[in-house]
Amino acid sequence: MIPEENKEIEANYKRYILERPHIVILGAGATMAAIPNGDKNGKRCSVMKGFIENMGLSDLLKRVTVNTDSDNLEEILSELESRPECQRLVTELENRIISNFSEFEIPDELTVYDYLLLSLRSKDYIFSFNWDDLILQAYQRAWEITHDLPQLVFLHGNIGVGRCPSCNAVESLRNENCRKCGHELVRPKILFPIKEKNYKDDPYIKNCWDGFLDLLSRATILTIFGYSAPQSDVMAIEAMQKAFSSTFRRLDQIEVIDL
Ligand SMILES: [Zn+2]
Repeated sequence: MIPEENKEIEANYKRYILERPHIVILGAGATMAAIPNGDKNGKRCSVMKGFIENMGLSDLLKRVTVNTDSDNLEEILSELESRPECQRLVTELENRIISNFSEFEIPDELTVYDYLLLSLRSKDYIFSFNWDDLILQAYQRAWEITHDLPQLVFLHGNIGVGRCPSCNAVESLRNENCRKCGHELVRPKILFPIKEKNYKDDPYIKNCWDGFLDLLSRATILTIFGYSAPQSDVMAIEAMQKAFSSTFRRLDQIEVIDL
């Protein structure tokens, strides 16, 4: 027979394990895996390498001389954003990226994003570095089955996220007006992973990062799915180093899903 006090210890321990969040980090590779044959209309997504050609951004980039020899869009944007004379071009690129990603529609068949959402609970978190809103589209249809879904947080902003400037509510930009107070929703800045830490400029993004760092320290399982932590993203790399350090978590589980 188990003594009473041991039972209580065991119950506390179980609660401690069961109630801590499972955190999933998504990168471009996860969206690729969600629509391996293209979206509902056959439109394909590419990872950051080769993104410029596939997104039709080459003509815009021909207007400037870029010093980095990388063809990774994030590296190029990181450079352009640091050059004051390139700000108009950065805005144009941002608009082009937004309109391009807005075309993606989730296929009618279930995707890996649907399964991921349904496998997690409301105590869990998905932190996405992606600008596309496929996971939000999957979320909206999962909501019709269950409300026990993970929290979605977009560390680089997302084309589908709206924030209410009046009451700070965060909801789908497709709603157009805030469901709580009726104010028109605004899209938080689409963020480029640049060397300078500009995460504090946008209140939504700042909140996201503060929450991310705090939750990483409490997660029981950390899953990294299709995310490569580009070198230009200093803040993300710092967070990953913290997450992987052996003093930080000795007993917990980290899993990496890549090709
Ligand atoms: Zn509001």
